[in-house]
Amino acid sequence: MPGKYRRHFDPEWETSDPEFLRPKLEERLRAQLVYTYENSPLYRRKFDEAGVDPSGIGLDDLGRLPFTVKDEVRRTQEKTPPLGEHACVGWEEISRIHASSGTTGKPTLVGATICDRQMWNELVARSLWAQGVRPDSRAWVALSLGWWIAGLQFLEGLQYLGASVLPGGNTEPARSFSVVQETGLDFVISTPSFVQYLAGFARENHIDLKSLGVKNMGLGGEPGAGNPHTRRQIEDTWGCKVYDCMGTADVCTVVWSECEEQDGMHFMGQGFVLPEIIDPSTGSPIEPVKGATGELVYTAIWRECTPLIRYRMNDIIEVVGDAPCSCGRTSYRIRCLGRADDMLIVRGVNVYPSAVADVVRFFRPRVTGHIQIQADGPGPSVEPPVRIRVEYGEEKDLNRLKKEIEGRIRRELIFASDVELVEPGTLAPKGNMKTKLVVR
Ligand SMILES: [Zn+2]
Repeated sequence: MPGKYRRHFDPEWETSDPEFLRPKLEERLRAQLVYTYENSPLYRRKFDEAGVDPSGIGLDDLGRLPFTVKDEVRRTQEKTPPLGEHACVGWEEISRIHASSGTTGKPTLVGATICDRQMWNELVARSLWAQGVRPDSRAWVALSLGWWIAGLQFLEGLQYLGASVLPGGNTEPARSFSVVQETGLDFVISTPSFVQYLAGFARENHIDLKSLGVKNMGLGGEPGAGNPHTRRQIEDTWGCKVYDCMGTADVCTVVWSECEEQDGMHFMGQGFVLPEIIDPSTGSPIEPVKGATGELVYTAIWRECTPLIRYRMNDIIEVVGDAPCSCGRTSYRIRCLGRADDMLIVRGVNVYPSAVADVVRFFRPRVTGHIQIQADGPGPSVEPPVRIRVEYGEEKDLNRLKKEIEGRIRRELIFASDVELVEPGTLAPKGNMKTKLVVR
């Protein structure tokens, strides 16, 4: 029926007093914990070891549950492939598998049932609604549509919301711009570094991005859109409003999003995920009050396939607002400060220095195995080609070695690198000093 489309703004979940939601959230939490205990050998073991009765846990008892960390997920998937011992359903119920970047270069896997994908659609639609997307919007998903979750999930969520969608960001920029213009696309979902790359191309080719007619842009996958200088630069170049958003493949591609106020990301996962903030060094909970900083932790409360309980994200965030927002939403708002560890982000894909070293070590003994990444700024985002110094070993043809390493990094870690081969001994640890894998 024309004009009678569904609004993806849920006043009960999004604008209620958090106390009002407590009984519902508690019921979902308990159901999830009991389900996970009964179906996941990993969590049965973890809860038993911690002496936890999942049916007796309320919202105030989350701290009694053990944390889950990324490395644990990787190990359980190596031991019990493909999804690991936290998977709660069989193949007959698994609808899709995605990859999430891992600490060793080998991705961990995320499984979803049809119900899980429906939850993802709800969350993507809810978040993009806050960014101004409506069923009459024309949206460009300027992300890759591979097994990394973001592209495909935004595509499905946008379709679920009812928007018209142009899928995929791999097209040559000049062609993309002409399609954006011809079709009147007014919304772009992408990463800050990709739209900045497009802006660089436009500048070199004398294309005025403002003439394209893009009105709103949702940017995630890396910090940047929440940084005032980066946001202003992108908004001025494209002539549009930029909204910061954030999620994770392991939980949902987006669980935080800015609203029209552009004043920090609201929590958008009400009813499906519980967020916590903890002190990364002690694990103690931190109240989400304005000015607080800490590490994000997620607990699934509506997940069938691969639920994660108290999953530590390594994302360090700051609470930028805790009062109800003029948009009506009552959740607190955050911005992402960066990763707790040494991780780099190249065009929205997480890259761990240890993963780079791992790829380079494939070439032993032609290399010694010592590397150093030269990052170009204080933040985790690095523009490709990423400069990597590599100690060569028993090799006569350095040019060929450089090309081979760059090719292998591109294939395995999906980013462009500029390898500088340095003499053996240059990067090797001196005494008991550890070599810094990343210098800034
Ligand atoms: Zn708001």
